[in-house]
Amino acid sequence: MQREEPEGIVIVCDFCRRDWDGQEAMIEGHHGSVLCLPCMKQALIEQAVGEGKYKCTLCLRFNIPPELPRWVNPEHPEAVVCQECLYQAARTFGRTPGLGWKFEPAAYPPAVKVKIPKPETKSENSEESA
Ligand SMILES: [Zn+2]
Ligand SMILES: [Zn+2]
Repeated sequence: MQREEPEGIVIVCDFCRRDWDGQEAMIEGHHGSVLCLPCMKQALIEQAVGEGKYKCTLCLRFNIPPELPRWVNPEHPEAVVCQECLYQAARTFGRTPGLGWKFEPAAYPPAVKVKIPKPETKSENSEESA
């Protein structure tokens, strides 16, 4: 997410609310959502199936069936990451040179395949550059 400061826009991890230092590898989702590496690592371990459908902060899909594991940071439960975004982020981080981190899919729960109903609104609005 982004926060406006007098000096300009500050990029903040949606999940731990840490400010981006401009160097650190982070994954960007839709609408400026951001997932940092420490959050991703925690999410890989703590991901779990929850109750009810949910919306993912990174891919912005809603109606995600509860069978797809998710992760929230208990300190900032507004942000939710779905397993698909999580594993996609993990693959990206795993390929990022200099991080010293490799994604070992076998070390984590298997990827769950779900069908997610297409959103019915056609609001492809990218009005954030206003
Ligand atoms: Zn974070
Ligand atoms: Zn997602």
